[in-house]
Amino acid sequence: MKIIIIGGGLVGSLAAVFLGQKGHEVHLYEYRQDPRGTTLNEGRSINLALSMRGRTALRAVGLEKIVLQKAIPMDGRMIHKTDGTTSSITYDPVLKNCIYSVGRKHLNELLLDEAENSPNVHLHFGKKLLKVNVSSGTITLKVPDGATEEVKGDLIIGADGAHSAVRRDLMKATPVTFSQTYIDHGYLELSIPPENNHMMAPNHLHIWPRGKFMMIALPNLDGSWTVTLFMPLSSFTTLRATKDILGFFQTHFSDAVELIGADRLVRTFMANEASHLVSIKCSKYHYGSKVVIIGDAAHAMVPFFGQGMNAGFEDCTILNDLLHNHDYSVNRALELFSIKRNPDAEAICDLAMYNYIEMRDLVNRKSFIIRKTVDNMLYRIVGSKWVPLYQSVTFTNMNYNQCLKNKKRQDSVIRKASLFALAAGTVSVAVFLLPKIMTGHSPLPND
Ligand code: FAD
Repeated sequence: MKIIIIGGGLVGSLAAVFLGQKGHEVHLYEYRQDPRGTTLNEGRSINLALSMRGRTALRAVGLEKIVLQKAIPMDGRMIHKTDGTTSSITYDPVLKNCIYSVGRKHLNELLLDEAENSPNVHLHFGKKLLKVNVSSGTITLKVPDGATEEVKGDLIIGADGAHSAVRRDLMKATPVTFSQTYIDHGYLELSIPPENNHMMAPNHLHIWPRGKFMMIALPNLDGSWTVTLFMPLSSFTTLRATKDILGFFQTHFSDAVELIGADRLVRTFMANEASHLVSIKCSKYHYGSKVVIIGDAAHAMVPFFGQGMNAGFEDCTILNDLLHNHDYSVNRALELFSIKRNPDAEAICDLAMYNYIEMRDLVNRKSFIIRKTVDNMLYRIVGSKWVPLYQSVTFTNMNYNQCLKNKKRQDSVIRKASLFALAAGTVSVAVFLLPKIMTGHSPLPND
């Protein structure tokens, strides 16, 4: 097929690698300039957490080992309390899995290089998609001199991010139930320079949970840390003057002031606005045999489960499987992609919202630690019959919707055990311990 991919971000460039390897003629159009060879670090989050689903996709195209060579393992959360003390919570004490911090620019460049290694893949930078005629498979692009250009393909893949133009035109042609939710929290990226990192325990994702807001830090290869402050947008607007910014940090993140450096902290606040966070769901991702959307274009999510890129990479695995490992027509493969992917995409969008509460608040509570201990104990004893939520989302390829269902079943078992203990007169267990275990989570989506 002649396949057109719109968007050369992480998901579009991986899709190009997959499809180039299968011998399709692939044309990827990206409206930005080629990021390779520039020092620009445009866009969101300088580094990201790579986990099982992303690794599975990278493995399928032979890139997993290369990516992991320049990734930093993180095997737990390091919690920073307000008084500056820290404690570690291991992600997977049972199977000892970890997540990896990878540089967005490095990963994107590696994928573009790999795509270009295939003689079938053609990368076109500086070309912006204006519109898609979904029934004929024709796209209109704006090229650098301002002129427009039309290109026709057998299949158009929209990997053009949360504000996808492909999705917009897809939705004009076919009924799609669509929702877009901006949460009232935003984020600002700060950094800890390599020379200041002495207090940062390596191989952890650091979290400063403060109930209604939080700060996190992920390591970079050069010894620096990318720090992200998440909090209500209204709170960002109150931090304009140097004394307010420093006062806020001294109160809530005193240990981080020294690490980031007071000057750098104030400079970053003054020079940047907080960015918004959006969650997008759509009921359908394709049109006939001509158009399909993947990655953030299909399911943007808030970043709190570290799954946006991983889910987008998993889209590439699933689409590749449907197109190449069965006897389906392209039309049927795309239809199955929509049917199969939608419940999982919606589940991870919901779980990502839930995980913000876990990260910014629950990790501070004893009940959370108790619940984690119980989950891990049962996981150790009964294995795959009790995979805790975090482990199932992050360290397996289990359908996201199944991960959510499992968690609800586990909560229900614990609730029943609590009632049983009460009936059996085990007052100390029923009254003191089990309610604590149950409050170790906040209500799940649709609970
Ligand atoms: P994008 O990265 O948005 O790429 C879309 C590309 O399409 C862009 O290059 C854009 O220039 C191009 N484009 C757009 N419109 C057009 C057009 N009209 N014509 C041509 N080109 C166009 N995910 C994780 O898995 N782990 C994490 O730890 C993680 N952390 C995150 C932290 C933050 C703060 C944020 C905001 C997100 C995080 N994510 C994380 C999510 C992750 O960044 C996204 O899910 C991922 O980047 C989606 O990739 P994409 O290629 O689908 O979209």
